[in-house]
Amino acid sequence: MHFSEYHFIDELKNNLEKSGFRKPTDIQYKCIPNILRGEDLLAIAQTGTGKTAAFAIPVIHILHSKINPKRRNGIRCVVMVPTRELALQINDVFTKFSKNTRVTSMSVFGGVEQDPQIAKLAKGVDILITTPGRLFDLVSQGYILLQQTEILILDEADHMLDKGFIKDIRDLIRFLPKKRQTLFFSATIDEEIKDLAYSLVKNPIRIQISPKDPVSKNVNHSVVFVSMDDKRFFLERLVQENPDSKILVFVRTKVRCERVQAAMLRVGIESVYMHGGKEQKDRIDTLNQFRSGKVKMLIATDVSARGIDIPDVAYVVNYDLPEHPENYVHRVGRTGRGKNKGFAYSFCDESEKKLLTAIEDYIGKNVQVLELGNEGYKEIRDFTSETEMDISKIIEQLEPEPNKRYGVKKSKKKK
Ligand code: ADP
Ligand code: MG
Repeated sequence: MHFSEYHFIDELKNNLEKSGFRKPTDIQYKCIPNILRGEDLLAIAQTGTGKTAAFAIPVIHILHSKINPKRRNGIRCVVMVPTRELALQINDVFTKFSKNTRVTSMSVFGGVEQDPQIAKLAKGVDILITTPGRLFDLVSQGYILLQQTEILILDEADHMLDKGFIKDIRDLIRFLPKKRQTLFFSATIDEEIKDLAYSLVKNPIRIQISPKDPVSKNVNHSVVFVSMDDKRFFLERLVQENPDSKILVFVRTKVRCERVQAAMLRVGIESVYMHGGKEQKDRIDTLNQFRSGKVKMLIATDVSARGIDIPDVAYVVNYDLPEHPENYVHRVGRTGRGKNKGFAYSFCDESEKKLLTAIEDYIGKNVQVLELGNEGYKEIRDFTSETEMDISKIIEQLEPEPNKRYGVKKSKKKK
């Protein structure tokens, strides 16, 4: 079925066509009718399968069709997301699809000045895409009215309902009307979180696509056994072999971001990095530099693992293995988005083998091992153009960090 055959308002259809959206993806095809009927939904589909449009399209149609021109003093749809970057990205999708309609959207998040956000809110906004912290602040101060909210959406729902966020979410839900539509979207979910989600809604419909393998089928993912000290040579080799490709490198900590960047710089490879400790403006600039292709390598912690849609990331490298097994799925899911294919490599040191086992338990299968053999391994290590032998610097970078630990954080059971 084509989007042109749906009974959507014409403006929305035009916007979809202009954006190159001709046919719905599986998750869109399955969710849209239920959302239009006003049902509560828990929708699980792999990374990069178009979950954003699965809610954005019907929400715009509903809000435009039901608009009451006399009343414009409250938010009608709230989309909650874990990061500011994701709030911006999802707002871009809403903005694009709601052009020339009566529906307006904006994103609000912490870490930037509140006043411009308040001024914009005062003009009246239908759809708010937000991180829970800033939303709570603005609601408490009376700048945002949620009494008339008809639709609540949690994107990356399992993460939003997890320990770090659940209190904020519960606090916010108290401000929302009981009679509303609630939609949960995620690529991963476990039993406990599923029960929690169900406890927040009336009669949820569960829609699940490709549940068996949570890793997107467009991602070819494998593991290479590399000793910690040699990882930089393997990354260097990948860059040399693919000089024009965008590579997203995941590391465990902020300090690791800086170290990997320094190691790459020593062999003439430019990169940018991003972690939760960076100023908001820097984070957005960094992501834009990578998005535009100005810089081909982004080194990031798990803050960027969820939801970020950069269509042409060719390689994801788990330079350090993730401590939460579900983050493996989210990290590798930054490549192979939409119809694109992508590759993901995990560099696994001996000390990280238990993290690999936890990942394999989580995804329910073994990760394919790239066998290099002694010769192949040695060749990659010796391939380096690292010449500047500032030994003290290198030793410092090889030293373990003070809190180095590779314990598995929590091994959630996938359902
Ligand atoms: P998810 O949230 O499932 O990880 P996104 O919503 O970020 O995925 O979408 C992934 C990519 O697929 C985006 O670049 C989006 O523009 C593209 N996309 C989604 N749906 C369609 C569609 N029906 N036609 C064409 N492109 C689509
Ligand atoms: Mg998403």
